[in-house]
Order: sequence, then structure tokens, then C-alpha cells
Amino acid sequence: MTKTIAKTGLAAGNGAKAVAGLVVDYAPSIESDKIVTIPPRHQLYIGGQWLKPVEGRYFDSINPATLQVLSKVAEATAPDVDAAVRAAKRAYDRTWSKLSGRERGRYLFRIARLIQERARELAVLETLDNGKPIRETRDVDIPLVAAHFFYYAGWADKLGYAVPGAKFAPLGVAGQIIPWNFPLLMAAWKIAPALACGNTVVLKPAEQTPLAALKLVEIFEAAGLPEGVVNIVTGAGATGAALTAHPLVRKIAFTGSTDVGKIIARSVAGSGKKLTLELGGKSAHLIFADAALDQAVEGVVSGIFFNQGHVCCAGSRLLVEESVAARVLDKLKARMRKLRVGNPLDKNTDIGAINSSAELDKIRRLIETGKREGGRYFEPENITLPNTGNFLRPCLFSDVAQADTLCRVEVFGPVLAVSTFRTPAEAIAKANDTPYGLAAGIWSEKGSKVHAVAAQLKAGVVWANTYHKFDPASPFGGYGESGYGREGGRHGLLPYLEVQP
Ligand code: NAP
Ligand code: MG
Repeated sequence: MTKTIAKTGLAAGNGAKAVAGLVVDYAPSIESDKIVTIPPRHQLYIGGQWLKPVEGRYFDSINPATLQVLSKVAEATAPDVDAAVRAAKRAYDRTWSKLSGRERGRYLFRIARLIQERARELAVLETLDNGKPIRETRDVDIPLVAAHFFYYAGWADKLGYAVPGAKFAPLGVAGQIIPWNFPLLMAAWKIAPALACGNTVVLKPAEQTPLAALKLVEIFEAAGLPEGVVNIVTGAGATGAALTAHPLVRKIAFTGSTDVGKIIARSVAGSGKKLTLELGGKSAHLIFADAALDQAVEGVVSGIFFNQGHVCCAGSRLLVEESVAARVLDKLKARMRKLRVGNPLDKNTDIGAINSSAELDKIRRLIETGKREGGRYFEPENITLPNTGNFLRPCLFSDVAQADTLCRVEVFGPVLAVSTFRTPAEAIAKANDTPYGLAAGIWSEKGSKVHAVAAQLKAGVVWANTYHKFDPASPFGGYGESGYGREGGRHGLLPYLEVQP
């Protein structure tokens, strides 16, 4: 990588302006988008065929960094969803439920290897459709997608060890609904365990980011996956609602907002459908005075600002021990000034595009609320934003109170709320004072303190002296309004099995 010390201004395509010659600026290093072919129009993938939507409607999937339309995508209505569920049921009855675990595992291993082979292409497509930096899709999302398929491929012929001594069977058709922030990873979290357990799938990607899931079809076909085992219906909320309401669907796996999760929970109540909900979060970092502060600051920055804060378990609240709060804030602000906001295809970019104009408006409104409520606002004004596209500077509010909106409401953007504590008990009480409970981060050099605090945090994942580390073997899920059920690990198999003790 070419490295230059910028004396003045900004390297093209790169959002960090040199401050008094201190910021090391990089020459742009743009990943080519030539590696990926995006068809101008996508149909629905049902029963191994591309079918036109019954009502003939299409919507645009746009690149949030350029606001250009990438493709027109079919909008599935209830009759299309019905056809997809019936195709999945046929595939379940005739093919997939007849295969041994070993045979199912073979398909999953093949899919995992093909994802690795086409990793660069998938990373570019995900970045184009979602707006997240290529560094994230290339180094985090796509490797984890492959890892999930490998991991659950390994379980397919060992399910007896997941439920020792019990009789078990697959459920049938699983309806899976995913959000726009990790389009391909959420598809992998859902599809891999469902297929490993012997179920077939109808997947509904988010309307903002359907393209990578649709690209997976090429991989399924190259792997020889029998027709109807995975079906993809694109569309908006009504498409998801038709899927959750379908009587032949035996299980719903949903990842998305708490509001929609509640609607789905109500719609499946009394139907006998199994349900797992992975919902929103307001996760806290706890920095103790004995922490390695530079590492802690780096962890906080990556935990809330990378990926534009579009992460369900983003560390959006920072609680710092009072004696080091001023130092931590200074370090944090200095680090924020060096973040690079801009072209998501540039390998230097830390913060890409906000996924949609609607999301950008929502984040801006919440920032205004934060200012009105009196938190102390900081944004690194040295960062210049590109002229087009949905871009936003990262920002923080210090001196926020527990009752303030920014401490309670999920912003889902690069906005950090900072407050202080004096004792571990106060830190724990503040961290737990939220309707959510998805994740938390503890920063301390003292192991006994880390363990004692972690045991008292009501969060599905607690990271110690790190943040956002994922592994397919580790279960993930929330407390309270962050949802219920677990995905990942052995736990992630159980929602896809009928188990009789
Ligand atoms: P969302 O608005 O709830 O949408 C999620 C999915 O549900 C989309 O595919 C959406 O379709 C669909 N949908 C909307 N209304 C529906 C209905 N009535 N019935 C069935 N499906 C419906 O969430 P989002 O804005 O895409 O994603 C952001 C949220 O996801 C955040 O709250 C974040 O915390 C959460 N999230 C949680 C996790 C986790 O593991 N806990 C992981 C990632 C994200 P359309 O998009 O087409 O409207
Ligand atoms: Mg898009």
C-alpha cells in the first residue's frame, strides 16, 4: 500500500484530512467492482427456478454510497410466498428429509468451499449493496459466512451429540427473515443450521440489501443443492408477514428490529410454530481505571464506528470510571479525528455509507434529540464527507444521563453515548439499566474483576478486553427486548429440531 504523509488536505476518495500534518494519509486503494456481475433485474428463486412475481412489481436496490440503482428486484406477494413455501415443503418431503446427515453435510461443505472461492466477489457485492467498507466485508463478513457453513456442515451427521439420549427430527419448512446490516452473514446464520438439521428454507432478505443472498443461488446451484431446498423471496415487510402467516411454515427465525419482532411474536402466537428472535440492542462498554486505555479506546471505536454503527450488538453506550474519564475522552476524540469516512470500496475506509436515506434521516433526528437533551456533543469536523451518497461523521455525546434518549434508544448509527461511574456496582447497575441485553464489553487488566462483573451483566455476549469477536461455535442471542433463542454453536441447532426426551 502506498503511504504518504499528507501535508495539506485530503487524498482523493479518502475522508481523513490531515490535522497539522499529524494524520498519516493513504493514497486511495479502490477495490475493483469488475469482479462482480449484477443482473439488471432479479426474479424470485422458487423451486430451483427464477420466477416472475405474480403481481409483476419490482423495487430498486441502490448503492448507498453513490445512490445509483444496482438492480431491480422482484416484490413477492402472498401467492409467490405460498409457491415458495410449497416448493420448500415438496423438497422436504421428497428429497431433503430422506438424505442422511452425512449427505446433507456434503452439500454444506461444498457450499462453504464455493463461498471461499468466490469470497472477493461476494465481498464487493455486499459492499456495493450495503455501503459497509470492503475491509469489513472482505475480512469479517464473508470469512464468517464460510465459517458458519463449514461449522454446521460438521454437525449434520453428528446431531445425536447435540441432543444426547433424545429422539429428534427436523421440523419441515423454516421461514427466515433477515435485516440489511449483515445481509450475507445473517443468511448464513439462518440457512446453515436449518439445512444441517434437515429442514428446507424460504428466506426473505431485507428490501435494502437483497443482492448478496440472491447471488448465493449461483453457489447453491454449483454445489448441486436439490431444487426447492432453499427458496428466496424478495420484498418488503408485507412479504415477511406473508411468510410468518403461512400455515405450512413450522419455524420462523427472525433477525431485525424489536418492533417488528413483537409483531411477528403476536402473529405466530398459538400457531405451534417455533420462533427465535434476534432483535435490537443498546450494548455497553465498561472501561475501568485499570484498563489498558489505548486498547480500550480502539475497541470502543471499532465497536461503534466501524460498520457505521449498523451492528445489533454495537457498543453504543460507553461507561468510564470517573478517574480516567477525561483521559479516555481525549484519546477517543483524537482517534475519531483520524477515522476515514468515504468510498466503501476504498481499502483504507473505516466508515462507509449509511445504508439508506431513511436510516440517515432517523440517525440525524436522534442526534438533534441528543443535542436538545443537553449531552455534550463532539464530532470530528476535520473529516470531510463525499459530496454524494449517505455519509455521516461519527459523533459522541458525553455527560449523558441514564434517562436520556441516547442512553435508551437504539440509534443504529455511528453515535456514542458516554457517561461515568465510580464503583463496579454502579457500572453494573447502569449497564443493566436498559430494556435490551445483547452484548457488553469489559475493559480491565484485572481478571478477577472481569469475571465478577461479567457474571452480573444481563447480556447474551460479554467480551473482555476485546469487542465484536464472533465464532460460529459460540452461541449468540439476547436478554429482554433483544430477543430470545440462540444462533450459533450447538445451541443454534436446537430451534431447528423437534426433540423428544
Ligand atoms: P426490520 O425493519 O425489523 O426488518 C427486518 C426484516 O423484517 C426485513 O427483512 C423486513 O423487511 C422484515 N419485516 C418488516 N416488517 C415485517 C413484518 N410485519 N413481518 C415480517 N417481516 C417484516 O429491521 P432492519 O431495520 O432491517 O434491521 C435493523 C435491526 O435489526 C436493528 O434493530 C438491529 O439491532 C437488528 N439486528 C439484530 C441482530 C441480532 O442478531 N440480534 C442482528 C442484526 C440486526 P423489509 O426490510 O423489506 O422492510
Ligand atoms: Mg442496497
